[in-house]
Amino acid sequence: MAKEDLECSFCGRKKPETNLLIAGLDAHICDRCILQAHGIVVEEAKDDSISELSSELVLRKPMAIKEFLDQYVIGQEFTKKVMAVAVYNHYKRLLQPASDDDIEIQKSNIIMVGQTGTGKTLMAKTIAKMLNVPLAIVDATVLTEAGYVGEDVESILTRLLQAADYNLEKAQRGIVFIDEIDKIARKSDNPSITRDVSGEGVQQALLKLLEGTVVNVPPKGGRKHPDQKFIEVNTENILFIAGGAFDGIERVIQKRLNMQAVGFSASISEDVIEKDNLLKYIIPKDLKDFGLIPEIIGRLPVLSYMDPLDAKTLRAILTEPKNAIIKQYTKLFGMDDIAFSISDEALDYIVNKAIEYKLGARGLRSLCEAILTDAMYELPDSSETEFEVTKEYAEQKLNKSTIKKLKAVS
Ligand code: ADP
Repeated sequence: MAKEDLECSFCGRKKPETNLLIAGLDAHICDRCILQAHGIVVEEAKDDSISELSSELVLRKPMAIKEFLDQYVIGQEFTKKVMAVAVYNHYKRLLQPASDDDIEIQKSNIIMVGQTGTGKTLMAKTIAKMLNVPLAIVDATVLTEAGYVGEDVESILTRLLQAADYNLEKAQRGIVFIDEIDKIARKSDNPSITRDVSGEGVQQALLKLLEGTVVNVPPKGGRKHPDQKFIEVNTENILFIAGGAFDGIERVIQKRLNMQAVGFSASISEDVIEKDNLLKYIIPKDLKDFGLIPEIIGRLPVLSYMDPLDAKTLRAILTEPKNAIIKQYTKLFGMDDIAFSISDEALDYIVNKAIEYKLGARGLRSLCEAILTDAMYELPDSSETEFEVTKEYAEQKLNKSTIKKLKAVS
């Protein structure tokens, strides 16, 4: 057969009509058909990987994410909204097919600023539960620069691997919650000449992780097993959520707001500033002034704040969340066929004590334990079928020694 009579076995084009005709065993394929076929292969592969991922990931739209958070986290409306959007965008980025355009969606790592016990960890836990992804909670204070006593930053990923039962795929789209990020702030604005073990070095080490990189992770953690094989973990799709109390940052905010008010560009005038919740006005620059390096701030682009918990919120925390403390006690007593109830006055009393002893939400549980331990000890062996906690009962139990211990802790 003459060369020009050869044709593509797929589209039938003659050789002169093609740019290229490739011969197979007893068939030919032209450049156009190759390109088309390649497109189909790529599409198919994308669909497979996406559906594999999405079958496990339970991703909802931002409003639905917020509704889920509402079931567990009381108040904190702003953070819940910000978090819902950030998480949605993060996982959209993860599920997006490789695109031809040059638009690369950046990571939506989050930083939450707020007093301890206001629900930062709870927020991260709830998001992980909703998405059904592994969560590692780490304390920034134990992290040190490589070579120092303490844990290398890689240990964060060891924890994540453990939370994912060593399933690398799962770990690589998990969530890491870094608590007390404020504790690795540079101690002074003046970068010290002597090495600062706990501060800037750790921030530098964290940078790579936050941005997305492949890290050699010792699966068992620590440096005690020099022979252990490393696992390569890619942090590109891991969502990092950082939290910290940033004690004293209000002063930084106040100072900035004052300067703004004095200057010509006063955007927030003095009288509308909520003085008792200055965190509301936090901007990334405040974090920098507090001692976080700008690169870290840049890699935690979503900044949010937690409201302090007032009496109304604490009261709601006791009874409203899906796994509220009071609901848990009702269930526990119910298992012994005891109908448990607690009066409104008793609930108010517990809330007031939590505020008085500055125990916050975390203290609610200790207070309830102190009040209910005797009953939980005695009632299962009794013939009681009802148990009501009144304010007097709560008062009487708390006035025993336990309350003094609680006070000492605060
Ligand atoms: P943080 O991480 O801010 O120090 P946590 O999330 O660990 O605080 O909160 C401690 C406990 O207090 C949680 O386990 C939860 O039971 C309760 N809690 C705190 N804030 C809230 C909230 N906004 N809604 C519901 N429960 C809360």
